This record gives sequence, C-alpha cells and structure tokens, in this order.
Amino acid sequence: MSDETLVVVENPYHTARLKPARKGKKGPKLLAVVHQSGCTGCEVCIQGCPVDSIELVAGPDSSNPEFRQTVEIDLARCIGCQNCSQDCPWETITMYQHDDAFIAWGNETLKSELYVSEENLEELNKQYGVSLDAPAAQSEEESA
Ligand code: SF4
Ligand code: SF4
Repeated sequence: MSDETLVVVENPYHTARLKPARKGKKGPKLLAVVHQSGCTGCEVCIQGCPVDSIELVAGPDSSNPEFRQTVEIDLARCIGCQNCSQDCPWETITMYQHDDAFIAWGNETLKSELYVSEENLEELNKQYGVSLDAPAAQSEEESA
C-alpha cells in the first residue's frame, strides 16, 4: 500500500466501540482511559505498558505528525495494571471500572484514527455498517 492511497478517517472500528467479548475469560476489573484533552503526547505511558496497548494518534498536520499528537488505549488489550495512570506526568489517564471505561472512552477520546486505503474504505463501511467518506481535508493537495 503506497502512502498516496492512505486517508485518515475517524475510527469507527475501535475496539472500544465494538466492545468485544473476551472469550472464556473475565475482563479486567479496571481499564485505563486517556482524557485526551489533557494529553501532551509525551509518550511516557507507552513505555510502561506491559501489553503494548497504548497507541499514538498523530497530530492534525501530516507533514509534522508529532505536533499535537496524543495517545489512546486499546481497551481490548488493556489488562488494568495501572502503570500508565501512575506514570502519566499530567495525570490524564484514569482507571475506570470495566464497563464504565467504555462510556468514558466515548466521552474522553477526542481523536481516534485509523489509516486505511480508499479502496478498502467501502469494504470496511459494509462490514461495520457505517458510511465514511475519505475527508477532502486530508487529500494530498491540501496537506501539501
Ligand atoms: S492500565 Fe496497564 S495494560 Fe492498561 S493501558 Fe495502562 S499500562 Fe497498559
Ligand atoms: S503519559 Fe500522559 S500526557 Fe504523556 S502521552 Fe501518555 S497520556 Fe499523554
């Protein structure tokens, strides 16, 4: 997949939205949610996560994605160890009771991104019953 075909869209497929069942296992009692409006994108939390469940979300400028980057936590992978909430220098990660975390994720996650190709967008829309368009603002010409 070449870079030219990539578009940035809001991520409707995030596991927090899908709330996947954990087969044969009870979910963790607590899950971590980033309050993104307070996140500086410093990446400190990423280093301490034992299951690699904290993802970077690029900033709005594709030519300088680290500027105003933030992070989000994949709730399907989080095991509730609390490392990140203790490590965050800005105290912007909160541990929630398992079910409450999915509601908090919806309220506190301002930006969640998934990089997909335009050619895959239609298929994903069908699969997940959503209708996303490749945003014009993210076209090559406008981001150049
Ligand atoms: S609580 Fe633990 S497992 Fe969950 S995101 Fe934070 S560091 Fe990772
Ligand atoms: S440690 Fe806190 S401020 Fe730094 S990236 Fe993680 S959530 Fe954001």
